[in-house]
Amino acid sequence: MQIVRQLDPLRNALAEFRAAGLTIGLVPTMGALHAGHMRLVEVAQSQCDAVIASIFVNPTQFGEGEDLDAYPRQEAADADLLQTAGVKLLWAPTADQVYPPGYATNVSVSGISDGLCGAARPGHFDGVATVVAKLFNQVRPDAAFFGEKDYQQLAVIRRMARDLDFSHEIVGVPTVRDADGLALSSRNAYLTAEERADAVALPQTMQEAATAIAAGSPVADILSDAKARLLRSGFHKVDYFELRDADTLALLDDFTKSARLLAAAHIGRTRLIDNIPVS
Ligand code: AMP
Repeated sequence: MQIVRQLDPLRNALAEFRAAGLTIGLVPTMGALHAGHMRLVEVAQSQCDAVIASIFVNPTQFGEGEDLDAYPRQEAADADLLQTAGVKLLWAPTADQVYPPGYATNVSVSGISDGLCGAARPGHFDGVATVVAKLFNQVRPDAAFFGEKDYQQLAVIRRMARDLDFSHEIVGVPTVRDADGLALSSRNAYLTAEERADAVALPQTMQEAATAIAAGSPVADILSDAKARLLRSGFHKVDYFELRDADTLALLDDFTKSARLLAAAHIGRTRLIDNIPVS
């Protein structure tokens, strides 16, 4: 596996893949890789000839007071995992390759970036849309792979790709979970043993709420009970626990076939997010 940090060698390597007739799959990450990221790689391998993973802890998607400095960085271990999985190239750009001096352009996807995580993390999805648009232009993949774990992010990227005429496929990959149901996340590393034990309340509460909503219970009551249960179970703040349309992310008051539950809540110093389909 080649590890590339500068744009010129990236372009040369990509030109060789293309000259050999290989299709290119891109898996963008911020590193600290776990089985969720590796599932994206696996799905990419099944659909493309050459898989490129990127690792870049993108400063513009972190707000003030968020965990940019503390975010786990373990590139050597990540590179081993990717190499073993058969990834052809790791794109791990230096910050100046992504944001050269005088960088002045921002990609903002209105509407779908508002609410949910966009409300709690102002500017976050501008940072995501901008860096992903740049990665798409740098790599020009045939397909790019993203986790449903970050469901609003996936929706923002799909809309951005459509609006800006990126013609490659955007593939959403279902969330990979620990045995007890907690969604895998690089941020789970922040949890103490006690917080990790309590954190299972998030997927459990979501699953029970989804079952009750699908059975016809009043949505507003289910959502407020679910928030109260999280606050009794070790979480100290619930940013949102909402029923949304899976495609448009429009708020729903009642069950529909495309309803999805999305939640974000704080436990200790960690903010966890999750989402599940309701049907
Ligand atoms: P991150 O490194 O957190 O930016 O995540 C990189 C990619 O991996 C994103 O597309 C995430 O949605 C995806 N991802 C993160 N956790 C999971 C998971 N538990 N299951 C599936 N995909 C995931």
